[in-house]
Amino acid sequence: MGPLRAVLDRTADGGRISASEALELYTDAPLHALGRAADAARRRRFADTATIATYLIDRNINYTNVCVTACKFCAFYRAPKHAEGWTHSLDEILRRCGEAVELGATQIMLQGGHNPDLGIEWYEQTFSAVRAAYPSLALHSLGGSEVVHIARTSGLTFAEVIARLHAAGLDSFAGAGAEILTERPRHAIAPLKETGAVWLEVMETAHGLGVQSTATFMMGTGETNAERIEHLRLIRDVQDRTGGFRSFIPWTYQPENNHLRGRTLATPLEYLRLLAVARLFFDNIAHLQVSQLTLGKEVGQLGLHYGADDLGSVMLEENVVSSAGARHQWNLQELIHLIRSADRVPAQRDTLYNHLRVHWTPADDPKLDPRVASHFASTAPGAQRPKLPDLPLVAS
Ligand code: SF4
Repeated sequence: MGPLRAVLDRTADGGRISASEALELYTDAPLHALGRAADAARRRRFADTATIATYLIDRNINYTNVCVTACKFCAFYRAPKHAEGWTHSLDEILRRCGEAVELGATQIMLQGGHNPDLGIEWYEQTFSAVRAAYPSLALHSLGGSEVVHIARTSGLTFAEVIARLHAAGLDSFAGAGAEILTERPRHAIAPLKETGAVWLEVMETAHGLGVQSTATFMMGTGETNAERIEHLRLIRDVQDRTGGFRSFIPWTYQPENNHLRGRTLATPLEYLRLLAVARLFFDNIAHLQVSQLTLGKEVGQLGLHYGADDLGSVMLEENVVSSAGARHQWNLQELIHLIRSADRVPAQRDTLYNHLRVHWTPADDPKLDPRVASHFASTAPGAQRPKLPDLPLVAS
């Protein structure tokens, strides 16, 4: 392995690697050596709690599927005036939040299309109503793209939009809308979306106003290896200035029902390599989540040995990625079992990654409630909907 060994050793000692070194590791390092180095970096970062892997209980409430941005990878949106377009009423959003609280959720992700009929007042009213009704819920919602859309719709600056959303109750931004920030592939898959530079500007503005966020990466839409690493570099540069990204969450493009039509995909091994390199490259981002949703349970477990410290959420509701073909679902007991059988101690976390309940032994596990499970509803025509008990989801 030669010079790559020296780079891996340096990361094991906590040293920073450059983007070109990250690219070399990504393309050339032996898979297991890469995984071992990433796991060593994870253990060094978490020291006393390195035996623990976390999970979350949350609900993605997609409030509208109406969108003017028409991303080519998206199977969720409908153009304005389309017969299948919908926007949930505030009562319906509150009902879903109440259901989530009853099932133990600590976080809501409100995410939706760029609906030209929804201005800042709609978001303020929604966030303040949810905040008032369910003060225990963290509102980790929207993302850089929605901020750009609201700014345009309501004639406000990014800072004004962020400050008003925050005042209305939004706690932090989800990392959605990042997709790939490198300009060439971003333009190819989402020509009407804001540029990567603008997405990063919104995040930097939010961090400056005290609103933290996560960062994501959708792999597998035709980007080169160098463009993948460039995506990481752009995020790390902002993080050096702000420290506002809590975690990094890479996932893979899902090929069904969208205009890219599965022309390109990322393999599980490419994903694990990227995950490991992300752990080594992001010496300034604490948490790394493996995407069971798009890669499945086995890769989820493997990911915990390739640098990830978090297995994501039970996801009481998801409508966007499942519309494009993600089918991997689980209940809370399964999620806990997956973590334990990957040789980690499961712990429920909150949005800030505080441990709420550590399941040191199976005796610490919660009682089985069949409703605490992933409920996915695809908006794609003809999609199969799962039959799950007692949790009314997207009305359609
Ligand atoms: S990904 Fe978001 S912005 Fe793009 S088309 Fe889908 S809903 Fe609209």
